Amino acid sequence: MKLDTRAATVVELLTGEYPDAATELDYGSPWQLLVATVLSAQCTDVRVNKVTPELFARWPHPEDLASASQDDVESVIRSTGMFRQKASSLRSAAGIVASDHGGRVPEDLDALVALPGVGRKTAKVVLGEAFGIAAGVTVDTHVRRLARRLGLTRLEDPEKIAAELESLLPQDEWIKLSTRLILHGRRVCSARSPRCSECVLAEVCPKIGI
Ligand code: SF4
Repeated sequence: MKLDTRAATVVELLTGEYPDAATELDYGSPWQLLVATVLSAQCTDVRVNKVTPELFARWPHPEDLASASQDDVESVIRSTGMFRQKASSLRSAAGIVASDHGGRVPEDLDALVALPGVGRKTAKVVLGEAFGIAAGVTVDTHVRRLARRLGLTRLEDPEKIAAELESLLPQDEWIKLSTRLILHGRRVCSARSPRCSECVLAEVCPKIGI
């Protein structure tokens, strides 16, 4: 099967499997999604969703978090790991959003990646999920693993994989494809024990490395 045909078939099958795919992070505003996404680095969404209710209740807006003490923020987000760095980044990012962007998350990739703790992956998630802007395919550990197993890339670097997937697929598929691959990676095509016999993609998947 040709590569672009396989990519299109993967999109079609995953869309049928996960028609309403959305991030599993809980949030109520673009700012809260940005915070939750930063916290999700090296941490599960389930764990992040356990700490964000208190975090958002105590400091709901960027200006609130910017003036919170480092110790107080650390104590709330401690269980998400790398909590000192995350607390510091989030407080700094909150200050910039409050002072330079009127308290609103900028709808612009360059402005987002200029915020402390916000890389291109986080920026793409926020733009896609919160604003419906397809800035690119988000490549996390699940997307990287599945793209390689599915034979959609041979590359290792997430940004290069993102560029390859973006060249294969129409832009209006970029946002949801990432979300669907992440869900499929968690539920079916796990790192250690992929369940190929139950997988909707089995017919088109070359199962590279399995
Ligand atoms: S067929 Fe197997 S390797 Fe391919 S996507 Fe499905 S679970 Fe993963």
